[in-house]
Amino acid sequence: MPELPEVECLARAVREETRGCRFTGVNFLRPDLREPMPVDAIKSALVGANLRSVRRRSKYLLIETDRGTAILHLGMSGQLLSMDSPDPVKTHTHVIFELRRKDSSAAPQNDGGKPKYLHFVDPRRFGRLTAVPAGTDLSTHPWLSKLGPEPLEITADALAEHLWRKSRGRKPAVKPFIMDGAVVVGVGNIYASESLYLAGIRPGRAAGRVTRQEYRILAQAIQTVLGAAIEAGGTSFRDYLHSDGSEGSYALQLNVYGRSGEACRKCLSPVRETRHLNRATYFCGACQK
Ligand SMILES: [Zn+2]
Repeated sequence: MPELPEVECLARAVREETRGCRFTGVNFLRPDLREPMPVDAIKSALVGANLRSVRRRSKYLLIETDRGTAILHLGMSGQLLSMDSPDPVKTHTHVIFELRRKDSSAAPQNDGGKPKYLHFVDPRRFGRLTAVPAGTDLSTHPWLSKLGPEPLEITADALAEHLWRKSRGRKPAVKPFIMDGAVVVGVGNIYASESLYLAGIRPGRAAGRVTRQEYRILAQAIQTVLGAAIEAGGTSFRDYLHSDGSEGSYALQLNVYGRSGEACRKCLSPVRETRHLNRATYFCGACQK
C-alpha cells in the first residue's frame, strides 16, 4: 500500500512531469472506484485549466488548477503512470488524464506540443478521485477535515507536544496511537515499528504512559524515518511515474520491521513480533522499554 513517503515522491514526480502544462482532457473508463466519481465536477476543475501545483496532504494527491483541485487517493494498489498512449495500456486503467504544455498551440509540430497522459491504474479499486471548484477551503473537505498534522511540516518539538497532549489519558498502545491519522498522518505500519525502535519505546505501552521527554525522542525518530524514506525514494522519484508496477524501490534499511527472530542491530537480541489492531509489530525487548 502506498504510504506517505511514496505519495510524497509521486507528488514530486507529477509536479516535475507536468510543470507548465494544462489539462486538455480526462477520460473515464468506468464511473466508480471505491465510490462513484463526480465526473462532471472533475472535468470542470481540470479540462482546459492550467496546472498550478501538485501537493500531498496525508496520502492524498492534490492537483490544483486555476479552476479547482482534484483530490486523488491511490488506495491499496493504485498507481499514476506516465504513458505516451491515450488508450489504456495496463488492465485496471480507470482514468486517463491528458495534458499539454501551455505554449504548445504555437508550435503543434514540435515536441512540446505532444500530449502527456497520466493513467490512473488501480486493480483493487480502493482508490478515490474527486474535485472541488477553485476557492474551496480544502481543510473542510470531508476526506481531509479529520486529519491530524503533517509530521514533516512542523518542528519535532511541536510534533512532540501535540502527541503528548493528545495521548494524555489514553490507554491504547502507543503504536496504534501514532498510526491513527486523526492524531498524526503518514505514520504507516512499517514506519511506526521503526520509529518506536529508534526511540527505544515499546510499541505495546499505553500511549498515555509515554512521557513528554519520550515523545520528544519519538517525534524526532518519526521525522528521521519518514525523511529517510522520502530521500531513498527521492533519488529515483521519477520511477514512480514510469514504473512497471513494482513497489517503490526503497533502499531504507529496516531495523526491526520484518526481521522477527533476527538479531537486533544494537544488542543482538532476537527481534520480537506481536500484533496491535491486527497489524504486525516488531520490536526489541531489550532496547525498547
Ligand atoms: Zn536490541
